[in-house]
Amino acid sequence: MTKDNRYRCVLLFGPPGVGKGTQGKILANIPGFFHLSVGDVFRSIDIGSADGREVYDYISRGELVPNPLTMKIWKKAVDAYVALSWYKPREDLLVLDGMPRNVDQVEIVKEYLEIHRVIYLECSDQEDMIHRIRRRAIRENRTDDANEDIIRRRFDLYEEVTAPVLSKYDPAIIHKVDCNGSPAEVLRSILNITIPVQNEHFLANN
Ligand code: ADP
Repeated sequence: MTKDNRYRCVLLFGPPGVGKGTQGKILANIPGFFHLSVGDVFRSIDIGSADGREVYDYISRGELVPNPLTMKIWKKAVDAYVALSWYKPREDLLVLDGMPRNVDQVEIVKEYLEIHRVIYLECSDQEDMIHRIRRRAIRENRTDDANEDIIRRRFDLYEEVTAPVLSKYDPAIIHKVDCNGSPAEVLRSILNITIPVQNEHFLANN
């Protein structure tokens, strides 16, 4: 991709269970936003395929999927959404959830993304997030959410390899949002941050 046609985006960032998916799905219903969750893309791959089996193996252990496979699958998914016109990069602001998840991915995604804001969903209470994840396990039938050891492994990985991603971005574009509020309150904060970016994107392309 050339520098000019990279996807303009905001990142939804934060530990597991913080509400990135919940908020992303709400934003996805607003014209002008396109929500893409890397976890959802992984969960939608046919588990009978070679890539699907490999991905399932990592996810179900709470490990990150290796970068080359992650990027291959992510790129294929984005290209498909663009081809189907579900995601119209000139009209829609991309709301990317779950990437970059380690510092090497920060470098890799530079080729594809123009990141305007990092929305950092912060939650003070890890036990509260574990509780949310347990509820999600039942609601969404997620194997990685059902086992407490695997959930704790994901938190450890978040601290070790994902949290350092934040230090790679200009603090001026990082916005903290307290995830303990109601979904509507969290949404209001996220909209306050994203609407100006979305307006700029719209004006630049129309
Ligand atoms: P959560 O944020 O609740 O952990 P996600 O749906 O974002 O859940 O991710 C589920 C799993 O998918 C992760 O635990 C990890 O195994 C894998 N995954 C998601 N995004 C990435 C990524 N960018 N790189 C590698 N693995 C990823």
